[in-house]
Amino acid sequence: MIGAGSAGLGAAYELTQRDPSLEVHVYDAASHAGGKIRTLREDGFVIELGPDGFITIKHDVLKFVERIGLTDQLIQTNESGRQALVVSKGKLVPIPMGFQLLGPAQMWSFLKSPLLSPLGKLRVMCEPLIRGRDDEADESLASFIRRRFGGELLEKLVQPLAGGIYTADPEYLSMRCTFPRFVEMERRHGSVVRGLKKGLKAQRAAGGSGQASGARYGLFVSFKDGMDTLPKRLVELIGEHRMRLGHRVTALSPTDDGRWRLQDDRGNDETYDAVVGACAAPALGGLLEDASEDVGSRLKAVPHTSSAVATLCYEKSQFEREPDSFGFVVPMAEGRPLIAASFTSVKYAGRAPEGKLLIRVFLGSAIDASALGGDDAGLIGSAHGQLVELLGVRGEPVLSRVDRYTNAMPQYHVGHMERIAELREAMGGLPPIELAGCGYDGVGIPDTLAAGVRAAGRVLGAP
Ligand SMILES: Cc1cc2nc3c(=O)[nH]c(=O)nc-3n(C[C@H](O)[C@H](O)[C@H](O)COP(=O)(O)OP(=O)(O)OC[C@H]3O[C@@H](n4cnc5c(N)ncnc54)[C@H](O)[C@@H]3O)c2cc1C
Repeated sequence: MIGAGSAGLGAAYELTQRDPSLEVHVYDAASHAGGKIRTLREDGFVIELGPDGFITIKHDVLKFVERIGLTDQLIQTNESGRQALVVSKGKLVPIPMGFQLLGPAQMWSFLKSPLLSPLGKLRVMCEPLIRGRDDEADESLASFIRRRFGGELLEKLVQPLAGGIYTADPEYLSMRCTFPRFVEMERRHGSVVRGLKKGLKAQRAAGGSGQASGARYGLFVSFKDGMDTLPKRLVELIGEHRMRLGHRVTALSPTDDGRWRLQDDRGNDETYDAVVGACAAPALGGLLEDASEDVGSRLKAVPHTSSAVATLCYEKSQFEREPDSFGFVVPMAEGRPLIAASFTSVKYAGRAPEGKLLIRVFLGSAIDASALGGDDAGLIGSAHGQLVELLGVRGEPVLSRVDRYTNAMPQYHVGHMERIAELREAMGGLPPIELAGCGYDGVGIPDTLAAGVRAAGRVLGAP
């Protein structure tokens, strides 16, 4: 395994569960397991440096959590504050109830919202009348939304909501890879609004309120003691003796007998029957370019962008009005240096001591890399300045830090799925090697865990 993020750990867990006698080693350049999952405990705060939770509806992730014995460690988002906001003309405005990432499931609350102009709302209302596409070719998120709902919805709501998740430019983001559910709604129901309404009906019939707005926060969970509960548990189950943390893989070459020779920066030189590449695609590309220039360059061509998270902690008394939502997203058109802010301690219990508030501000994206220039103090100043303007916070943060993710966010551009299929085909001539990780089949914890589990199955010869 190259990489001990959620994909690499998922793969190693599955392999060792299915066949405990296998000699499995997990290499990671970092000294911790978990990759982007990192939790810091400081002054009574539980600070997530990467992901702070995960969606429950993908890939049976809750079953996986159960399998590894962590169900009793899960926490739901708090009941109060299940509301997201969006910056509009310099002010924070609630995202209309029932708005689900790309479209409104409840037209009435959407029409009451001040976010769109009357003309923009009229255009959205016309969506059920717009004919669906005949061809099945992939298209960009921007093209899909302009076609179905008009440009104003894209600019004011969809770009910031989708941008917050994928740190991506909607003009390039592949609809088929990132929002296949909405493509399917158009195909099946002829309309996204009709599809969303049907979904809402079904959800209500099943007992859910369907009232959460924006990202469906009711569907997100985290772990009581922080997200690193997950990698810690996986390492326990995989076995410490199989972990090679702080070992950067430096070379990977095919042997004459169809295996892999792997070397690392600590002087290890080993031969393996199969490899799971669970590090970033360009890093794997660098390791494979000698074995196959074609495969190496295809891997390196998966685009990645950078972002940073500024974590700021305040006394609640520093706020004119204490934040009572889960956070806000920021349209690019507002011209601000941040993409979104998450009020982490409002969202999940146990993240901040009594009387204090923990906020994470997300900076940079495919759209605006300039926000990441300058040193950490500058980024903290910029993030704090935004909170002063938007939330009226007084004084300085009691605790602050910056975590940078340089070229770490894969971008699923239009045609990504086809390119990954071609890449896998090109890898056919190499000794057994499987791709897992966020650069290929989905970002986020459920997708990467599932990618790891699938890769392990393929290593063992399962379909
Ligand atoms: C700030 C931020 C917030 C996020 N929030 C969420 C969220 O709330 N919910 C959610 O589901 N997802 C979230 N994500 C996305 C999620 O964190 C990632 O999609 C997921 O963690 C990726 O896992 P991975 O195993 O593919 O890669 P990674 O976690 O990046 O692991 C790859 C590993 O490969 C190692 N590596 C690289 N090169 C080598 C080498 N040569 N030798 C050995 N090791 C190497 C690296 O050190 C790294 O540990 C967030 C991401 C970021 C950056």
